[in-house]
Amino acid sequence: MADCIFCKIVKGEIPSTSVYRDEHAYAFRDIQPAAPTHILIVPQRHIDSVNALSAEDEGTIGHLFMVAKQIAAQEGLSERGYRLVINTNAEAGQTVFHIHLHLLGGRQLTKMG
Ligand code: AMP
Repeated sequence: MADCIFCKIVKGEIPSTSVYRDEHAYAFRDIQPAAPTHILIVPQRHIDSVNALSAEDEGTIGHLFMVAKQIAAQEGLSERGYRLVINTNAEAGQTVFHIHLHLLGGRQLTKMG
């Protein structure tokens, strides 16, 4: 999508701190980290949100979790623990409408809500 900030980040039109890239996914550090490790994992193909998922996206979404697992290991978080979050729409605080998996860790995380 032409005006999507994360599409522009995927294409390198907006700078980001790269953590991982493959054919389908891109991961980069969040610009306003909420934890010592705060990485966003996105599909290269634009999908607005969880609400916009179709059956054909199943493999892509599963892949994001496999990437998250690998990055968590790289960041030394596998044993310590980490949190994976996808916000959807206003009450969850979604601000960028290109689906993304937050990987948070590196400190004791509080209960959600
Ligand atoms: P959400 O609120 O779940 O939609 O998450 C959007 C996230 O994108 C927030 O944590 C922002 O800090 C992050 N973000 C926005 N713009 C950028 C950017 N240019 N580079 C890295 N992270 C960004």
